Amino acid sequence: MDSGYAIDSFLRQVDRFSQVVFVDRDRIHRLFGEEVVETLEKLETFANRKQICNDCGGLCCRDVGCELYAPQFTTCPVHQIRPIVCRFHFCHRFDVLDKPAVIELRDIFLGCYMALDNWGHDNLRALDIPPLAGIIPEFAHLVAPWMEKVRAGQADAKTVAGRIYTEAGRILAPDASTRPATGITIAPRWEPKAGAEMG
Ligand code: SF4
Ligand code: SF4
Repeated sequence: MDSGYAIDSFLRQVDRFSQVVFVDRDRIHRLFGEEVVETLEKLETFANRKQICNDCGGLCCRDVGCELYAPQFTTCPVHQIRPIVCRFHFCHRFDVLDKPAVIELRDIFLGCYMALDNWGHDNLRALDIPPLAGIIPEFAHLVAPWMEKVRAGQADAKTVAGRIYTEAGRILAPDASTRPATGITIAPRWEPKAGAEMG
């Protein structure tokens, strides 16, 4: 994988996007290029086949303090549009498949993140999430009571996951992907389980 190309591609284009808190496959492709997408998909396919993240239940999501983590969920409620760091993080369980690729993805992420030292664009700050509240406090505030109910077994996890996905989709939607770049040249999971009805 050409890490330099992926980092350069990201930094050249990231300010064209109205936000990169939530990103879909197409945006990842536009930001990082084909090689990164192929590598991510290879690792994700491996994870799905071996049920790696399903069996784990999202320990990394819990450990990072993500507002969208609940043991009642069996997948991330925003899996299809989850943040960049969530897509680039593969724990030691993936080393048996392709440890060099895991390390390269980590390096690409860090290469992009380190640009924050020189350039405080919001879209670079968005690499430092989750938790989400620092970048999208209104969204975090909105979903907090829903998540409390899910964690307490007082709301249907599938219903809540659907609502969260819808709200996250509203943030993703107005992407100004055609905005001209500023030419910056700076020298980088799981099905809801059944639960009680949502109140
Ligand atoms: S990447 Fe996260 S959710 Fe997946 S197995 Fe590792 S710790 Fe668990
Ligand atoms: S957004 Fe989803 S994948 Fe990322 S940490 Fe939160 S629950 Fe995990």
